[in-house]
Amino acid sequence: MTGAGNNTYLLVGRSGSAALIDAGVGVPEHLSDLDAALVAHGARLDAVLVTHAHPDHAGGAASLAAAHPAAAFAKRPWPDQDGRYPVAWRALEDGETVGAGDEALTALHTPGHSPDHLVFWHEPTRTALTGDLVVLGSSVMIHWSQGGDLSQYLASLERLLALHPAVLLPAHGPPRTLLLGYLEHRRLRERQVLDALQAGHASVQAIGESIYHGLAPALMPAALENVRAHLEKLKTDGLVTEESGRWRP
Ligand SMILES: [Zn+2]
Repeated sequence: MTGAGNNTYLLVGRSGSAALIDAGVGVPEHLSDLDAALVAHGARLDAVLVTHAHPDHAGGAASLAAAHPAAAFAKRPWPDQDGRYPVAWRALEDGETVGAGDEALTALHTPGHSPDHLVFWHEPTRTALTGDLVVLGSSVMIHWSQGGDLSQYLASLERLLALHPAVLLPAHGPPRTLLLGYLEHRRLRERQVLDALQAGHASVQAIGESIYHGLAPALMPAALENVRAHLEKLKTDGLVTEESGRWRP
């Protein structure tokens, strides 16, 4: 359900104060990456701000608390769920300002995906740390049987939209999903180019027409540029050869 995994965001102030947005799940790699980032910035973890109580966002709280005993943990209460994560939660109210690094974020109650959901809003840069309100490249699960509410969800989207955000930083999706998607698309194209070569198509034009069969003619020159770029990459990789415009595996 988490796609390529979770994004957490570490906000580090010049003072050395750092805040983590979402706790992750407590895997050792996350904890060691966090430590490395803190050391690199000469920073300490002062706060963990959690968007909601789903396990992929709050599950790492206890591990973080053990590793960073001075860190404060805060979220909007969801009494049914919060007991699963044994840290001393500070309750955040809608509209409350909370420190993160040297900046202030506003906690916006944005229920729908979950009853306790918060977006953390940085007014000066119009940046929203969206938790699971938006997942770029996908749609958001509404767990109806576990407190999800579509009407509330739509109202929460409207609330964020009305703030005219410039940047959305979601807990799932880009950057990782976006980059993985681009890589996968290129691998697929490369397989198609190799298949076309194996099938005996030897010119850029013939390979392009076999892959982009039915493409609007106006777009074909761009498609052929793409095919050529793939062929050159395959040549660099030592997988194809070219002689006088004839390409071979
Ligand atoms: Zn969630």
